[in-house]
Amino acid sequence: MVLNLEEQKKMEHSGYRFAGKHSHAGAKICHWTKKSILNQGECYKQKFYGIKSHRCLQMSPAIPFCYQKCSFCWRDLSLSRTEWESPYDDPKTIIENCLDAQKNLLCGFFGNDKADEKKLLESKEPNNVAISLAGEPTIYPEINGLIGEFKKRNFTTFLVSNGLLPERLKNLENEPSQLYISLDGDNEKTYNSLCNPQIDNAWDKLISSLEYLPSFNTKTCLRITCVKGENMKNPEQYAKLIKIANPDYIEVKGYMCVGYSRERLTLANMPEHDEILDFSLKIANEIGREVINQSKISRVVLLK
Ligand code: SF4
Repeated sequence: MVLNLEEQKKMEHSGYRFAGKHSHAGAKICHWTKKSILNQGECYKQKFYGIKSHRCLQMSPAIPFCYQKCSFCWRDLSLSRTEWESPYDDPKTIIENCLDAQKNLLCGFFGNDKADEKKLLESKEPNNVAISLAGEPTIYPEINGLIGEFKKRNFTTFLVSNGLLPERLKNLENEPSQLYISLDGDNEKTYNSLCNPQIDNAWDKLISSLEYLPSFNTKTCLRITCVKGENMKNPEQYAKLIKIANPDYIEVKGYMCVGYSRERLTLANMPEHDEILDFSLKIANEIGREVINQSKISRVVLLK
């Protein structure tokens, strides 16, 4: 087991459900899945890309593993590891256990008269997966098989990566429906201070991943998490990095002062939507792109 029983309990208490028997994979119902079932709004990815929030499975195959300790991360970084020494569960087991967990966690909505009946029935059969939840998914040795298994089940697959395993990304035979790489610094110094990498040459690895991005056939997206007073500067530097990757989309998203990130940052680091829009326009001007969508409630702007 990767996480001991006490650590697992702590995470289960905050809504995680582990899959398999080695406590490295699991799911958690997304805030927006619940909201959508109650017709109280959808996530920005439904607005931008047409996925259905009420049919989305939020999961990770590598919950306790990451090569970064980002100050804006809302997870408990004290549980984070870099070395994967223990055995791991296979993709099929992980997916089936996550789907069962999702069904069990949502069954509480049955009997809630505010719940949309049609959506509730549909939520029993998720068709989109956000492979993000916690940790770095590409550290999972069978990430290629996991994506392949989801695709066999006709899921659209959103993979969010910090790009620190460029070779694993490069060797992905099963490309996700949309591949995200996080770009949280205009230069190595900013990146190191915000993302606190736990391995050597992290910036070079990230740049390698940006260089691989144009070779993907699938939709690609760079996501910039904007932390006010830290990395909302030098749009021309971001432009240079974005041009290397030439992604389909760029999401410029505001840091949210939630979860464990409040131990590291404050409300003052949370930019207003207008500040994010202003910064996005500066980047857009530098790269000859335009704002095609935005979500004020999620403080995110989409460039294409
Ligand atoms: S795509 Fe992300 S935000 Fe949207 S419902 Fe899925 S997990 Fe939630």
